[in-house]
Amino acid sequence: MAKIGFIGLGNMGGPMASNLVKAGHIVTVFDLNESAVNDLTIQGAKAAETVEQVCVDAEFVVSMLPAGKHVRMIYCGENGLINHLDKSTLVIDCSTIDAESAQFVGGELAKAGISFVDAPVSGGVAGAAAGTLTFIVGGSDADFNRANSILTDMGKNIFHAGNIGAGQVAKICNNMLLSILMAGTSEALQMGIDHGLDPKVLSEIMLNSSGRNWTLELYNPCPNVQENVPSSNGYKPGFMVDLMAKDLGLAQQAAQQTNSATPLGAMAKNLYNLMQNQGKGAEDFSAIFKLYSEK
Ligand code: NAD
Repeated sequence: MAKIGFIGLGNMGGPMASNLVKAGHIVTVFDLNESAVNDLTIQGAKAAETVEQVCVDAEFVVSMLPAGKHVRMIYCGENGLINHLDKSTLVIDCSTIDAESAQFVGGELAKAGISFVDAPVSGGVAGAAAGTLTFIVGGSDADFNRANSILTDMGKNIFHAGNIGAGQVAKICNNMLLSILMAGTSEALQMGIDHGLDPKVLSEIMLNSSGRNWTLELYNPCPNVQENVPSSNGYKPGFMVDLMAKDLGLAQQAAQQTNSATPLGAMAKNLYNLMQNQGKGAEDFSAIFKLYSEK
C-alpha cells in the first residue's frame, strides 16, 4: 500500500485513479473539474483542495494531463509542484506529451533532487477502466522499478523504453505506425470494393497474406466486416481522430528535432487534420476509411 497523489481525473485519469484506490492505496486526487474529484471521493479517494496538497506525504505523484504545457505548468510553472514535492517522491507523468517537455520537467525536477519518469499509456479508456493499460516508461532503472510497483495496479504490460523522454518517443513511433497502417488498410480495402470485391473476403485474404496487420486483425475500418469494432458501431470511439491527430503532431515535432524523414507520418497527419476539418474529430480514428469510401 502506497500514498499516491493523482492529478488529472479525465477520461483516462479517472479510471486509473479508481484502480489505485481498488488496489488498496491511499490516493489523494486533484482536478480542476470538481465533479471528477467527487466521483473519486465516492470511491474512497481523498480530495485535495489545492494541487499542492497532493504532494503531502506522497510516495508517488501521478499526473494524467492533456498536453505538454499543462505538465510544464503544474510541475515547473509559477509556484509549481517542484517547490512542494519531497525529495523522496517519485513523479510519474502518464500524459502523452512531447518528449522535449518530458525531458525539461524531468531535468528541472532532477536539479531539485526529485525523481521523474514519463510513462505514457496505450490501451485507451477501456484499458484504463479494465486496468490493462500498456505503460511505456522513460527513466532510470531504479525509478522504473519503483514506478513498476504501482503501474501494475493500472496496467498489464509495463515496458522500459530508455531514459527520460524515451517513453514518449516510443509511444508516438507506435501511434504513427498505427495511423499509417489504418490509412493503408482503408485504401486497399476500398480499392478492392471499387473492383467489386467483398470486403470480408478481401480482409480474410490480406490477413493470410503479406498485408496482414493489427488493423485487419482486430480493428477493421470497413463497416460490418468485424463485430464489436467502432466501424460496425457508427465509428463511435474507441480512439478519437482528435487524439490521433495530436499524437501525429507530436510525431512530426519529434521527427523535426532529429531531422528524421517521416513522409508517411506527415501524410497520415494531413489526412487526420483533414478529418478534423470535416468535423470528424470526435469519431473513431478508423473513420479514415470514409475519406476513401464516401464518393
Ligand atoms: P481528458 O481531457 O479527459 O482529461 C484531462 C483532465 O485533466 C481533465 O479532467 C482536466 O480537468 C484535467 N486538467 C487539465 N488541466 C489541469 C490542471 N492544471 N490541474 C488539474 N487538472 C487539470 O483527457 P484524457 O482522455 O484523460 O487524456 C489524458 C492524457 O492521456 C492525454 O495526454 C491523452 O493524449 C492521453 N491518452 C488518452 C487516451 C484516450 O483514449 N483518451 C489514450 C491514451 C493516452
